[in-house]
Amino acid sequence: MSRIELERVLTLNRVWQPIATVVVKQALTLVFRGRARVVDPENYQMFDWAQWLSEKAVRNDAHVVEHDYIRTAHLQVRKPEVITLAKFAGFPNTGVPYSRRGVYERDNGQCQFCGLHVHRQNMTIDHVQPISRGGGTNWLNCVLACNRCNHLKGNRTPREAGMELLREPFQPTRDQLILCGVNTHETWNPFLNEKHVKVKT
Ligand SMILES: [Zn+2]
Repeated sequence: MSRIELERVLTLNRVWQPIATVVVKQALTLVFRGRARVVDPENYQMFDWAQWLSEKAVRNDAHVVEHDYIRTAHLQVRKPEVITLAKFAGFPNTGVPYSRRGVYERDNGQCQFCGLHVHRQNMTIDHVQPISRGGGTNWLNCVLACNRCNHLKGNRTPREAGMELLREPFQPTRDQLILCGVNTHETWNPFLNEKHVKVKT
């Protein structure tokens, strides 16, 4: 796959709440199968596959801005930036349930004590207030830690262990989890609940 096909497309549920990002190729497949439609972020117009092709596809011999188009055998299809799923009731943007994977995403794969990158398969969860001392397994008490730091800290609070957290753990919103580690686009802003998308350079 070329680089453009690996770029991300913001995916909205049927009621236009952001629920995920998918790679361009997957987005086009969903639209092709009638499972999603492309949304024009400028005017919120929606396109099914045939409409998207007739509006946004160009023949191979046409002169186009290369980086915005996906090439197939016979034509080039414009890269969608936002799609909306045809059938999906959807979640609100609050109350994301706690998960280990979510902690990894929220903490950007970084040990929250030493700052080192931790591979997913080596991740450990540190309970800031240890379980043995009443600490719960939840967003506000759990952080990503490397093995070494987790071991060093043991059954102590950060203060007792003389260790400092990079930042206080927090309850992430769905937007934050969706956008973790993704190259975001300015055009996504109208669809997100928080305006934290940086302009891509
Ligand atoms: Zn560490």
